[in-house]
Amino acid sequence: MYLRRNIFDMNLINFMDQFPDEESCKMKFKAMRDEAGVTCRHCGGKDHYWQKTIWMYECKKCKTRTTLRSGTVMQASKLPFRYWFIAMHLLTSTKKPFSSLELQRQLGHKFYEPIWYMMQKLRKTMGIRDRAYQLDKIVELDEGFFESVDTELSKEEKPIKLKRGRGSQKQSKVIVMASTVHTLKAPEKHKKQTKFRYVKMLVVDNLKSATIQEKVEQNIQKDSLVKSDNYKGYTNIKELVWSHQPKTVKPKEAAKVLPWVHTMISNAKRNLLGIHHMISKKYYQDYLDEFCYKVNRRYMGDLLFDRLLFACVSYNYKKFIHVT
Ligand SMILES: [Zn+2]
Repeated sequence: MYLRRNIFDMNLINFMDQFPDEESCKMKFKAMRDEAGVTCRHCGGKDHYWQKTIWMYECKKCKTRTTLRSGTVMQASKLPFRYWFIAMHLLTSTKKPFSSLELQRQLGHKFYEPIWYMMQKLRKTMGIRDRAYQLDKIVELDEGFFESVDTELSKEEKPIKLKRGRGSQKQSKVIVMASTVHTLKAPEKHKKQTKFRYVKMLVVDNLKSATIQEKVEQNIQKDSLVKSDNYKGYTNIKELVWSHQPKTVKPKEAAKVLPWVHTMISNAKRNLLGIHHMISKKYYQDYLDEFCYKVNRRYMGDLLFDRLLFACVSYNYKKFIHVT
C-alpha cells in the first residue's frame, strides 16, 4: 500500500552481480568513504593519502593512519564487509523487517550476538539520519501504544520466557507524527483528504505535556499546522507552531480525524510484530527507526542501498560502538 513503488529494484540478482565477493564490497565501501571524506582523528585534517598496500588512509599533515572501517559504522566489527552489505541489502530491499536470527541462519554464522549488534547499528544509523529532519506542512499528532517486553533477559527477537518479577509485558508509549499535504484532486468518498509524506515515531517515558512539547519542538517546523485530539498534554502546542487544531474525537472517529497517524501505527504494529514476536522496551526505538526510515524513503528504489551505505560511512560512530 504505502511502499508500492520501486522498492524492489535492487533485487537479489543485481545485488549478487554487483557484490560477488568481499573484495567488491570493500571497493564500494572505500568509494563511498572517499566521497563522504575522511577526518583524521588526531589533527582533524581532511586530506589523506591512500596507502594501497596496507589498505589504510594516511593523514597528509600528521601521518596518522586510519583503517577503512575506523570512524564508520563498521568500526570495531570483525564481521566481513559482505555480511554488512547483505544486511544493508535486506534492510533496504524488503518491505518487511528481517530478524537477526534469520540473518544469522542465512549467513551460516556461528554466533547470534555479532549479527544482532550489526543489525542494531544499522537501525541506529537509520534513526540518526531521520532525526536530522523536521516535519512540516500539515502534521497529524497522536500517541500509540506498542506491546513490548520490559526485560534485560534477552536480545529481544527470540521469544522470551518471562520469569515472575524479572520482567513484564509492557506497552511502549510512542508519539507519532505524520506530515501530510492536501490532495489537489477532489477527494473521493471514503478516501483520505490528505496525502501522506513523512512519519516519525518517538518512544517516550511518559505522555506529560513537557515531554510532548519537547518532541514537538525538536521534530516539527515552527510554520506547521498541527492536528491532534484534545488530550490535555497537547495544550501548549499552539505556542510552538503556526497553528494547532485540536479536535474532540470520539474513539470511533479517530481514524477519520487523524487518518495517517492511525494508518502508520497499525502498519508499524503489523510490520514489527509479524516478524519479531516481542521487542524489548529498551530497543523499541531502533525497530521503529527502521520502519520510519523505509516508509520515508519509499520512492527511492535502488538508491536506498547507496543512501544507507553513505550514512554508514558518514557518522562518527565512537558513541555507538557499544550498542546497549
Ligand atoms: Zn592528522
